Amino acid sequence: MPALTSVSGFPRIGANRELKKIIEGYWKGANSLDDVRATAKELRAKHWKLQAEAGIELIPSNDFSYYDQLLDTAILLNAVPQRYQRLAFENAEDTLFAIGRGYQGERGDVTALPMKKWFTTNYHYIVPEIEPSTDIKLVGEKPFEEFAEAKALGILTKPVFIGPYTFLKLARNPQAEELNFDRGLINATAAAYAEILTKFAALGAQWVQFDEPYLVLDKEPGDVELFKALYAKILPARESSNGKVKLLLNTYFGHIADIYETVNLFGFDGIGLDLIEGKDENLAAVEKFGVAQDTTLFAGVINGRNIWRNDYAVSLGLIDALKQKTDKVAVSTASSLLHVPFSTAGESGLSDEVRKHFAFAVEKLGELKDVAELAQFDDDAKRSSQTLQGNQALFDGTRVAEDPAVSQRLAALSDADFVRQPARTERQQLQREALNLPLLPTTTIGSFPQTKDVRAERAKLRKGEIDQASYDEFIRGKIDEVIAHQEQIGLDVLVHGEFERNDMVEYFGQNLNGFLFTKNAWVQSYGTRCVKPPIVWGDVSRANPITVEWSAYAQSRTKHWMKGMLTGPVTILNWSWPREDVSHELQTKQLALAIRDEVLDLEKAGIRIIQIDEAALREKLPLRKSDWHVKYLDWAVPAFRLVHSAVQPTTQIHTHMCYSEFNDIIRDIDAMDADVISFEASRGDLVVLDAIHDANFETEAGPGVYDIHSPRIPSEHELEERIDAILEKIDAAKVWINPDCGLKTRGNTETWPSLTNLVEAAKAERARL
Ligand code: GLN
Ligand code: ZN
Repeated sequence: MPALTSVSGFPRIGANRELKKIIEGYWKGANSLDDVRATAKELRAKHWKLQAEAGIELIPSNDFSYYDQLLDTAILLNAVPQRYQRLAFENAEDTLFAIGRGYQGERGDVTALPMKKWFTTNYHYIVPEIEPSTDIKLVGEKPFEEFAEAKALGILTKPVFIGPYTFLKLARNPQAEELNFDRGLINATAAAYAEILTKFAALGAQWVQFDEPYLVLDKEPGDVELFKALYAKILPARESSNGKVKLLLNTYFGHIADIYETVNLFGFDGIGLDLIEGKDENLAAVEKFGVAQDTTLFAGVINGRNIWRNDYAVSLGLIDALKQKTDKVAVSTASSLLHVPFSTAGESGLSDEVRKHFAFAVEKLGELKDVAELAQFDDDAKRSSQTLQGNQALFDGTRVAEDPAVSQRLAALSDADFVRQPARTERQQLQREALNLPLLPTTTIGSFPQTKDVRAERAKLRKGEIDQASYDEFIRGKIDEVIAHQEQIGLDVLVHGEFERNDMVEYFGQNLNGFLFTKNAWVQSYGTRCVKPPIVWGDVSRANPITVEWSAYAQSRTKHWMKGMLTGPVTILNWSWPREDVSHELQTKQLALAIRDEVLDLEKAGIRIIQIDEAALREKLPLRKSDWHVKYLDWAVPAFRLVHSAVQPTTQIHTHMCYSEFNDIIRDIDAMDADVISFEASRGDLVVLDAIHDANFETEAGPGVYDIHSPRIPSEHELEERIDAILEKIDAAKVWINPDCGLKTRGNTETWPSLTNLVEAAKAERARL
């Protein structure tokens, strides 16, 4: 019998982003909530059928979500903060959207709940709030309805949930720095999850999956006890009068070696192990502690985080290693497939020769089946398998030739190429004199609203309906407009608006050698927002100057400083699909040299302030502390320094990061040696400001003063309070005033009033200093 196959989760946005389109249409008033519900139902059915047709045995349900699965979990467990309940929407979906995006209207004015990156992915989850008054209990019907929906189609699904341990570890108490895991909270949470199991046992489900990715993180004191307290109460609930449901404890994004022994002793029906990211440690733990008699190990061998074809021989080797310890091995995706695009089928722009190297979600279903099938073969049968031979051929030959110019340049680098002179404090003084900016200078992060007209013009160019010259003329017009507007409201450091860019990574990739692009390979980032990462295919170098002409044009149109705008090497790699045949370090260094060329060309063209975005630097920080430096920061930080080390002392280098959670690596951020950093800070708490204060952070800082992920307009008063909070922690001489992030996803209607309030708030604060 071939091994059992299991999918942890499937993309829900739709092959053509149907879910995104219908929900955004609803927000704009273009369609009804019933339309949204109908599309959602169609998509669920389509995705279940696809998996059933591929022959997958354990097909997930409840992996669907209108916005985010952790938000769904909070709602299911009755953790909806009062302020959203008070809006008193008739439809549950409206409450859900208000929590995710904030709400400003006749029912009230509330900000959204904070959003954070889901482990090391570019997916963002909504941070649940648990207050002492929160009464955790199972209240929602969504998972049961979806199970019934699939059953009506003849598909018995495996309902999936974010597990209780991960839920509690990711939730926060808005009134305190840490959530207090008291008996009451633990018991209530365990009781709710126990009820989920009992109900599904009664409904005839065979398997339920609890995802516990938080188990792959370092354990803090009390964590193991918390895990044990929860599951000791939950596991007995598998039995109901109608029969027993099996529980799969699923882990991913790393290894659980430090708790495997405990997990194994519980006798879960299934344990899901990530054999891509946590491979060596997970295998060693299984080797050391064995496998409980009735436990099936779910071997996560199909990568849910990258799009290259699976190397079957490697996967079979991993399965064999587990089989040394148990004959109960199922084959699974290493994580949810939420983080890869839908299907390669639509990528007609890629030749077959190229496309055959990739597997998106749909193709990964086939891989899962192949591996499960091959895993039962003996060595002879494997050797003569066409499937295996065909797969092997993908990895045997050379896929791309190395570019000798790139390797020579890398080999010629010396330590001095990674150090900018003179020291930063000295530079900052020189820059103050040269740039002559007011205290609390105001600026934005780079992009301005990419309105319909901008996208329409780009589409026309792509379809050949207009020529490059008229497109460029249009962009120049947009730049003129946005400059005039910024001057009018009184911003200090201007930007050109990034209208020429479809995306901050793809745009650069298009001007670099070694990249490939897709048409439709979208991945959900947050809510309805999706991204389309390019693919690193070969050695990278700059093909031609990328932004120089636009920045020079913009600078020529204003007397204010115009900030040049680049994407940094770490972010380009983190937001692309990286190669698997060479290291991330090498790919990042190649990118650093390419962007370095661009920095120096911008400087030559008269740009005095250059921002190098490292929006995604924090995102890929390894989950375990012991890996932070050796596996990442030790090369990521130098790569950034390599990009800017050769500029003049008076050229001011900015960087920007989405996501402010870098309290623990604050010295590493300072070591990037930028002159100024702006970062997202308005949705979360402000502990990062304490960290900046305590670390004697040298880099000047612009903690974002308002949330750009929400359409609401912050009042001047609210912004002044925010600035006050910042000035309490950081010396005013080193503070910049800016929004959280770029404004490209916003509309002009909210952007300009918000920025006007920002400028006025900065002026009022300045007057008080
Ligand atoms: N400069 C980019 C912009 O303004 C930065 C975007 C980002 O940090 N995600 O859009
Ligand atoms: Zn950002």
